Amino acid sequence: MVKEETMTAGAIKVSNVRKEFIDTKGETIIALDNVNVDISPGEFICLIGPSGCGKSTFLRLIAGLIEPSQGEIFLDGVKITKPGYERGLVFQDPTLFPWLNIYENIAFGLKARGIYREKKKEVKEFIDLVKLDGFDKALPHQLSGGMAQRAALARALVNHPKVLLMDEPFGALDAFTRMNMQDELLRIWKERGTTMIMVTHDVDEAVYLSDRIFVMTPRPAKIETIVNVEIGRNEKYGRKRDSGDFLNLRSKILRLLNYTGKEMLIEYNI
Ligand code: ADP
Ligand code: MG
Repeated sequence: MVKEETMTAGAIKVSNVRKEFIDTKGETIIALDNVNVDISPGEFICLIGPSGCGKSTFLRLIAGLIEPSQGEIFLDGVKITKPGYERGLVFQDPTLFPWLNIYENIAFGLKARGIYREKKKEVKEFIDLVKLDGFDKALPHQLSGGMAQRAALARALVNHPKVLLMDEPFGALDAFTRMNMQDELLRIWKERGTTMIMVTHDVDEAVYLSDRIFVMTPRPAKIETIVNVEIGRNEKYGRKRDSGDFLNLRSKILRLLNYTGKEMLIEYNI
């Protein structure tokens, strides 16, 4: 069990952010414009919106992998200028090192930071946290998709990030594994208190998990609406998927997404 005193959560402030890219034809693409949001410590945020509306760009900016063309982003009042371990990243593809076993994959960040010797004990604690005990010596290809993604979660969490950034982390999983993983993630969230920012194409997933849902639109690429999910959480910390409130909010978000005026706006990555 990971100790209480190691719980961490950070506040994110996104201030007047714009991000432009130049495409192969030399034309300017506005990937994000006029984004202003504050995320409180320990909040669970989902970003939802059609493909190409800037969701991954938003995460990559907070990760410090790219810089805003305009505006600033802060973690606990400190401007983000580069990647850092206090902002963990999990992608759709677990991106584990295939030649390292699960233990070594999870220990990798600690070794890279030169703190493995003092933090060694925690590798095992995080393996237990994601319920992979007994799989320490397994190689990534020997694990199911859900297990590999749990290893990727542990690899990010072992660094005690204040914010966990997840880009469609369960997008490649089947529907049932995905629902189980949502409960696992909520359990970890409850235990760790980490601020969670997750991109998803799945409206149900967003309603099940989030405190707030940022609904994004393309052209102009911005956060169009912020939906407060004011539905009580169940014993697993999620929501009752078959309740009237759940289904109403689900419909509302689908309407918001269709309101952007294009056919087939919700795209699932299978
Ligand atoms: P999403 O994750 O919502 O599908 P992205 O954030 O990946 O969208 O991309 C938003 C827009 O910015 C898209 O039009 C995409 O083609 C463009 N884009 C993203 N990254 C780059 C890049 N490195 N160079 C040029 N264009 C990019
Ligand atoms: Mg994306």
